[in-house]
Amino acid sequence: MAKDVGRGTKRVGESSSTYDRSLLSSGVAVMALQGDFDAHRLKLSEIGVDSFEARRPEEVDSSAGLILPGGESTTMWKFFESSGWEAAIRRFAAAGKPILGTCAGAILLASDVTNPGQKGLGLLDIGVERNAYGRQVDSFVGQVEAPRLGGSLPAVFIRAPRIRRVGQGVETLATLHGEPVLVRSGNVVAATFHPELTGDDRVHEMTFGARRRERKAG
Ligand code: GLN
Repeated sequence: MAKDVGRGTKRVGESSSTYDRSLLSSGVAVMALQGDFDAHRLKLSEIGVDSFEARRPEEVDSSAGLILPGGESTTMWKFFESSGWEAAIRRFAAAGKPILGTCAGAILLASDVTNPGQKGLGLLDIGVERNAYGRQVDSFVGQVEAPRLGGSLPAVFIRAPRIRRVGQGVETLATLHGEPVLVRSGNVVAATFHPELTGDDRVHEMTFGARRRERKAG
């Protein structure tokens, strides 16, 4: 997979040097069962956030944030069947700590999953259709519109799902051709693309930085 495809505007708003790293002292857990967890760790290190590869579910309990990476969601569910991952992710979400799911990770978080259908964690009230861009364009780089993140950002789509339904209380933060591709409900963020594969940091900064600001304010 190409790294740094479509380099975009670096950091909007604060620079990473203003991050309060103490909040993230226990680091962001990147679920490392399968998929492109390494690229997320690299991205986090680029914005000054500590991270670690979580291979066992209990490792996420004490972490400050959680990333469910891209890969193959069906394979991830197979791992979940024989381990405590599902319960650990639910505990994590219920604790109000920030979770970012990208591509397969977004599929895991959804309420309804089709094409083919499979269970969703239902931590984000969206309906997703897997592999929904079709064979001809199954992987591509696009510019998505993200006015609330400061403008358009480059986005790598790899056998990506499409969000077919957005429930009440779910905010759309970025769109491609008018369709939601980045959504958020409270502490749970899902991107149908791979923000870890471009030079643009805004999705990771928003997910983990916003949390820091909220805590500081409280
Ligand atoms: N097509 C994969 C799935 O359905 C997702 C692809 C990805 O994460 N890049 O789980």
